[in-house]
Formats: sequence, structure tokens, C-alpha cells
Amino acid sequence: MARERKAEDVETCEVSTCNNESARSLSRKKVDKALGHSFTGGGKKVKLCKDHYKEFKKKTKKEKKLDSLGW
Ligand SMILES: [Zn+2]
Repeated sequence: MARERKAEDVETCEVSTCNNESARSLSRKKVDKALGHSFTGGGKKVKLCKDHYKEFKKKTKKEKKLDSLGW
């Protein structure tokens, strides 16, 4: 009975190949563009685990840098 709400308590990363516990929730558009993974779920937000969040941050950082260099 105590485990009834488990699905709500523990949310997992929505990268389709990943089952880690989610750490962050981010705009699907942004994540889609940065990572190019396929995701489960259909909301506007995508839940990411720590690892994928790190990856996302890395990629967006790079893009920003390239952007400013390009100009
Ligand atoms: Zn993940």
C-alpha cells in the first residue's frame, strides 16, 4: 500500500534509451534541438537525468560560443 504512488514519486529520464532518475525538467524544444535524442512522453517539458542534463548543458554552451564567434 505504501508503494502505491511510486510512479509519481520517482520520475525517470525521458530519453528513450535511458532509465535513470530524472533531475531536471526542460523545454522539449530546446532539448530536442540540442541533443537530438528521441524521447518518451508527450508533454511540453522533457525530464532529464543528471547525465543527460549535463550533456544538454555542454551542447548548448558550445552552440552559444559558436554563435557568438560566428558573428
Ligand atoms: Zn538520461
